[in-house]
Amino acid sequence: MKKKSDNIREDQATLRETLQSHYRACQEMRRYCPGVFLSTALHSAISALAPCVNVYLAARIINELAGQKRREVLGALVLAALGSAVALTVLTGLLLRLKEYMYSKWDARKEHIFADKMLSLDFVDVDTGRSHDLLSQIRQNRNWGNWGLQVLISCFADLIRGLAGALGAMALTISLFTMPVPESAGRFTVLNHPAFLLGLIVILSLATGLGPVCHNKAEGYWTRFAEQAKLGNRIYGAFLGLFIDRSRAMDQRMYNQQIIARHYLESENGYKSTGPMAAWGRGPIGAWEMLGASISAVMTGAVYVFVCLKAWAGAFGVGSVTQYVGAVTALAQNISLLIQTMGTMKANTVFLRTTYAFLDIPGAMYQGSLSTEKRADREYEVEFKDVSFRYPGSESWALRHVNMKFKVGRKMAVVGENGSGKTTFIKLLCRLYDPQEGEILLNGIDIRKYDYRDYMDIFAVVFQDFQLIAQPLGENVAGSREYDRDRAEKALIDAGFGERLAAMPHGLDTMLYKDFLEDGVEVSGGEAQKIAIARALYRNAPFIILDEPTAALDPVAEAEIYSKFNDIVGDKTAIYISHRLSSCKFCDEISVFHQGQVIQQGSHEELLTDEEGKYYAFWNAQARYYTG
Ligand code: ADP
Repeated sequence: MKKKSDNIREDQATLRETLQSHYRACQEMRRYCPGVFLSTALHSAISALAPCVNVYLAARIINELAGQKRREVLGALVLAALGSAVALTVLTGLLLRLKEYMYSKWDARKEHIFADKMLSLDFVDVDTGRSHDLLSQIRQNRNWGNWGLQVLISCFADLIRGLAGALGAMALTISLFTMPVPESAGRFTVLNHPAFLLGLIVILSLATGLGPVCHNKAEGYWTRFAEQAKLGNRIYGAFLGLFIDRSRAMDQRMYNQQIIARHYLESENGYKSTGPMAAWGRGPIGAWEMLGASISAVMTGAVYVFVCLKAWAGAFGVGSVTQYVGAVTALAQNISLLIQTMGTMKANTVFLRTTYAFLDIPGAMYQGSLSTEKRADREYEVEFKDVSFRYPGSESWALRHVNMKFKVGRKMAVVGENGSGKTTFIKLLCRLYDPQEGEILLNGIDIRKYDYRDYMDIFAVVFQDFQLIAQPLGENVAGSREYDRDRAEKALIDAGFGERLAAMPHGLDTMLYKDFLEDGVEVSGGEAQKIAIARALYRNAPFIILDEPTAALDPVAEAEIYSKFNDIVGDKTAIYISHRLSSCKFCDEISVFHQGQVIQQGSHEELLTDEEGKYYAFWNAQARYYTG
C-alpha cells in the first residue's frame, strides 16, 4: 500500500516537518543570539495590538459625539486616546530599536553557525568538498530568495503579529454579534437571526482561508524554480566577479574568458523576460494572486453590508461601524497572515533540509580527551606502526605499511617523487585523517586518544599551500591580534625576512596585501613563504614540519634558509618534506618514500653507500640537474 508520505514531492513538506524544522531553527537562533526572540515577539505583539486600542477608543469617541455628548466622558476618552497613542508610539519605537539591534546581532551571528560547523568538521568532509557544496547551496538559497535561516526571523515576527492581531481583532468583534438589533427596528430584527452570524462566519472563514491558499499556490512556484535559480545563482556568483578579479586580468585579455562567462550569465538567468519565472508571473502566479485579492475584497464588502445594516437598524452607534469593519478586516488579514506565514514556512522547510544536511554532517573521527601534558622537557616520541591509508573513495593505498619512529630534537627528512605519499604522511601525523590500518603513537599512546587541540599544539606545520590573510604582518605571524612583538620580530628575522621587515613602512604593523588598505604591501611567493615559516616558529611547538618549505624560494633564498635551519629550529624536532635532496642532506635521518612505502632510511652518507638504492639514483639525477 502506498503511504501518504510517498505522495509528498521533494519540493514539498508536511506540516509536521515544517513545525519540527522551524522549531530546530529557532533553537539555533536562541543558542547563537539569545534575546532576539523576546525583542521580536514584544515588538510584533505591541505593534499588532496598538491599532486595536486606537480603533476601540476612536469608536467610543464617535459614538459619544453622535450620541449623548457628555463632556466629562468625552474628555476622559480623548485623554485616554491621546495618552495611549503617545505611550504606544513611544513603546513601539523603543521596541523597534531593540528589535533592530537584535536583528543585526543575529545577522552577524548567523554566519557563526556555519563557520563553527565548518571548523568542527572532520578534515575528510572538508577535503572531499561535500560540505562546501552544501554550504554553497545554502548561500545560494539565501541569496536568491532569503530562504533558510535568513527568513526565520521574519516568519517568527509575522506569526506573533498575526496571532496578537487576530486575538485583538476578535476581542473587538465579539460585541458585533452580541449586540442585537432592537425590537423597534421591525423587519431588521431578522439580522439577529443566528443564520446571519453563521453566514458571516462562513464568508469570513472562506475568505481568510482561500486568500492565503491562493497566495501560497503562487509562492509554490518559487520552490519549483529552486533548482534552476541555484544554478543561475552559482553562475552569477562565479562569473559576475570575473571581470573585476585582478588576478585574472591577464588571462582575460589573452583568452577572452568574458565571452564564455557572458554567455552563461545570459543563458542561465532564470529571471530574464523570456525565462520561466517571468512566464509564471504573467500566468499562474498572477492569476492566483489576483484571485486571492478578489476574495478578500468580496469579504470586506460583505462585512460592510452586514455592519452597516445593523447600525442602520440601531444595534450600535455609528462609531462602532468603524470599529467592527476595521476589526473584522483586521481579523481576516491577521488570519491570512498566519496562513501565509505557514505557507512560507512550508516552502522554507525544503530549503532548511539543505541547512540541516550540512549541520548534521556527523563527526566520525574519535575525539580523545587525554592531555599531551605540555611537557616542559619536550620529551616526545612519535611512532608510525605499520600504518596503511587510502583516501576515501580511492582504490589504491596512498601509504602502505609505514613504520617510522622519531624522537624530539632530531632533524628528519622525508623525500620521494611527487605522489609518493609524503604529504599524506604529514596529514596522518597531524590527524587530519586516521589510518585504516596500524596506529600512530605519541609517547606510546595512540594519537586518537589525545584531545585534538592539545595534540595539535605540539606541531607547527608550514603546508605547501599555506594561506596568509590581508591583515598586519605581525598578526599574521602570531595568529592573534594581541601578541609578543619581540618574538614575532625574531621569528621573522630567523625565517630570513629580516631585511624585508626593516624596509617595511610600518614594520610589524604593515598591512599585507591591498584588499583593505591602499598602502598594503604585496609580498612575493618567496616572501610569503618566509612569513609562513616565521608563523610556524612563533608557535614555538616541539615539532616543526615543513612541507616543501622552499618550493617558492629561489636557490639563493633556499640556501640561506637551509644554512640557518638547524639554528632556527634549535631543540625542536624538524621534519622536512622535499623532493630536492640537496635540501635534506644535513638531516640526521632521511626516509625515502616510494609509492606509499618507506623503502630506505638512514643518514645521507649511509644512504649513498647503497648504490642500488633509490636514494642513490635520485641523488645522482638531481646532482646532475643542479650542477647542470
Ligand atoms: P606527495 O606529497 O609525495 O607528492 P601525496 O601524499 O600528496 O604525495 O599523494 C600520495 C598519493 O595519494 C598520490 O597517489 C595522490 O594522487 C593520492 N592523493 C593525495 N591526496 C588525495 C586526495 N585528497 N584524495 C585522493 N587521493 C589523493
